[in-house]
Amino acid sequence: MPDYEQMLASQGRKCAICDQPELTVIRGKTITLAVDHDHATGAVRALLCRRCNHMIGMACDDPALLRAAATYLEAHAEPPEVIVTSGVSSSGLVIEKLEEINGRVIATLSLPG
Ligand SMILES: [Zn+2]
Repeated sequence: MPDYEQMLASQGRKCAICDQPELTVIRGKTITLAVDHDHATGAVRALLCRRCNHMIGMACDDPALLRAAATYLEAHAEPPEVIVTSGVSSSGLVIEKLEEINGRVIATLSLPG
């Protein structure tokens, strides 16, 4: 079995799925990445954050189910509400300001004229 510190270093101290460091804090302390095992064979796979470890556990380690969930989420993603073309929105409103907040483009609009 690989040494925990070696695995942590080889993964850049990040989760093998989401590529983020562990963020879960319990009793004021950030917990360590979990050692994920193949539940059928017991073989160590990699270190995972709590969220990703729970995610694959809830999906019964089933890649097809996880792919189906991703497809489902993409199919139900909200389309952009306004399509911007050179200062006038698709609905004919004048675009006063465009800004990006938390990865979403926010348009401030006004009525023409
Ligand atoms: Zn993760």
